[in-house]
Amino acid sequence: MKDHAAKRRDRRQIAVMKAAILRTMGLPRPYTTSQPLTVESVMLAPPGPQDVRVRIAAAGLCHSDLSVIEGNRPRPMPMVLGHEAAGEVVEVGREVTDLRVGDHVVFAFVPQCGHCLPCMTGRPALCEPGAAANAAGVLLDGATRLSDRHDAPLHHHLGVSGFAQYVVASRRSVVRIDRSVPFPIAALFGCAVLTGVGAIANTAQVRLGERVLIAGLGGIGFSALLGALAAGASQVIVADVQPEKLAQARALGAHLAVNTREPNAAEQVRDLTHGGADVAVECAGVVEALTFAYLATRRGGRTVTVGLPQASQRFDLAAVQLVAEERSLHGSYLGGCVPMRDIPAYLALHQSGRLPVDQLLTHTLPLDDINLGFERMANGEAIRQVVIP
Ligand SMILES: [Zn+2]
Ligand SMILES: [Zn+2]
Repeated sequence: MKDHAAKRRDRRQIAVMKAAILRTMGLPRPYTTSQPLTVESVMLAPPGPQDVRVRIAAAGLCHSDLSVIEGNRPRPMPMVLGHEAAGEVVEVGREVTDLRVGDHVVFAFVPQCGHCLPCMTGRPALCEPGAAANAAGVLLDGATRLSDRHDAPLHHHLGVSGFAQYVVASRRSVVRIDRSVPFPIAALFGCAVLTGVGAIANTAQVRLGERVLIAGLGGIGFSALLGALAAGASQVIVADVQPEKLAQARALGAHLAVNTREPNAAEQVRDLTHGGADVAVECAGVVEALTFAYLATRRGGRTVTVGLPQASQRFDLAAVQLVAEERSLHGSYLGGCVPMRDIPAYLALHQSGRLPVDQLLTHTLPLDDINLGFERMANGEAIRQVVIP
């Protein structure tokens, strides 16, 4: 038991800040009326020995946050959402030796323990303790640093909880970046860019001159488009149900566009590519898009799936094609990335002009407007929005 003086000391160190809390999943739209996220005063405990405290300068709104709001990807409630964020380190735990106050960082939404088999074999996106902590809504050490004004604990979203003025997270959830990158751009590298570009570079391993199909144009699909262009694809075809998204993708360099509302969309892609895409990347999170992507590939084609469909969804394919036509189907989580390696690499590509992801940032908004942001996303009216808390 701590004595009273120690308890008083602990309480003094706890910071009060503003954060956006989700208490109930599945509220009806429009979100501007139902207000699923409430901006409240939240208590943030001081960093543990292996944590950092970061002032959040920008946090992106991602479809995975929306999936939690909708209840399609259930998480323990209540939770401070937000997993794509960038900011400045303001405090480091006493065992953190490789980060300093003032460093700029981007969050990776899977903390990497460094010791489990996936971490030891170069696949930290699959970190087992990291996945368990994320599912439980806690940090790697099994605890939360957040509580509401009644002292009730709040869960972390994917080890981050970026819709807040400050975050205390494991040091293993952050990557130091070059200080010259503006924070609203840097934030996108934590999820959309890492996932989309990583799917192209790590999972599909797109080679020079290949024909690439991107199915589903959200922040990740647009990032995959830019990644495919940077990787030297000879033809990039985009597919979506919204004509405006297709036009935006054409403006960003896509060579061809197909509307997947048309019944023969897969056949159109096969015609346009003289036999099918070498690589199809599904970024929509629905099984229809995955089926379309798979059918639009050629013999020997690789289909990569990045979207997160509801857990009940099943996928049906002609199994014989996998062998007789040497087709393959790969899942890709966090773009198969090693965040410490890939975030700086993709940022360097951006800084040299070959990954213009700043073009994806369509809106910035204050934390108080976050429900408006998610309503806009649910309507498909934005590519990437960033809150400045
Ligand atoms: Zn995300
Ligand atoms: Zn691990």
